[in-house]
Amino acid sequence: SRQFTRPLNDLANQFNMLLSAMAGAERVFEIIDMEEEEDEKEAVHLRNIKGEVEFHHVSFSYEKSRETIQDIHFRVSPGETVALVGPTGAGKTTIINLLSRFYDPDSGQVFIDGYDIKHIKRASLRQHMAFVLQDTFLFQGTIRENIRYSRLDASDKDVEEAAKLANAHSFIMKLPNGYDTVLNEEGSGISQGQKQLLAIARAILANPSILILDEATSSIDTVTELKIQEALQRLMKGRTSFVIAHRLNTIRNADQIIVLHEGRIVEKGTHHSLLKAKGFYYELYHAGTDQFNISRGR
Ligand code: ATP
Repeated sequence: SRQFTRPLNDLANQFNMLLSAMAGAERVFEIIDMEEEEDEKEAVHLRNIKGEVEFHHVSFSYEKSRETIQDIHFRVSPGETVALVGPTGAGKTTIINLLSRFYDPDSGQVFIDGYDIKHIKRASLRQHMAFVLQDTFLFQGTIRENIRYSRLDASDKDVEEAAKLANAHSFIMKLPNGYDTVLNEEGSGISQGQKQLLAIARAILANPSILILDEATSSIDTVTELKIQEALQRLMKGRTSFVIAHRLNTIRNADQIIVLHEGRIVEKGTHHSLLKAKGFYYELYHAGTDQFNISRGR
């Protein structure tokens, strides 16, 4: 349902068609790139990035009539975890859409490692980013192919190592054909939580500097949930992570919490500093789970 899942889903469909049409499939984002505008002539290719992210007075609207986000300004150091919180419609997803360049700002700039992302080749930008979304995109193919999708030149050993780090290996080995088990697009036969573990395996394999996580709101059994949390911690270590956070635990552990309300940043800080400030975050926190759009527990 989130905006940034839409381009990914379109992509998934194209990818499926292409997979059946081509022998060696290309990297996914190269496929979406063919559909999108061309890069600027001078756009740079970034081989390695540290993962510093800066929004510089960014404003954006989907429709002329109304500004969706206004004057968004923040800086994130490489390796930090940022929790984006705020009521529904506050602009959390929009910030991610701009960071991943599904849209460009109307004014202001987004920088990665000091480069305005407008001047970075799209393929290069997306090579350094991985998404773990609520709905894991799966395609008709084996588990192995589904994991390898984030890095098509990965060896079987790389795939299995990523799956182990993602706590996915043990459930995969229990499937009738292990890594060669064929999944359909719905991933029937595996649980919601197991799909998340596959998404984490993929992200580990992709080895990105920047991670985008959309925490699941749906309930996942406790055992799998613990596996997910552990795998996510491994994945996030040393990478700049943006989390659309629904779990109090994630928010509490974030290096920075960006509190959004009606398209603006109303507060920034850590869980402690924000509670101490007794502002909007404090109110949301004490108003309970619905307002905050988070699930307590854990
Ligand atoms: P939620 O927690 O409900 O996902 P959010 O904080 O992620 O909310 P956004 O998805 O960024 O919020 O939406 C911000 C505003 O922009 C909302 O009012 C939303 O209705 C609007 N919006 C989002 N996507 C579009 C779009 N493609 N076209 C027009 N308006 C949109």
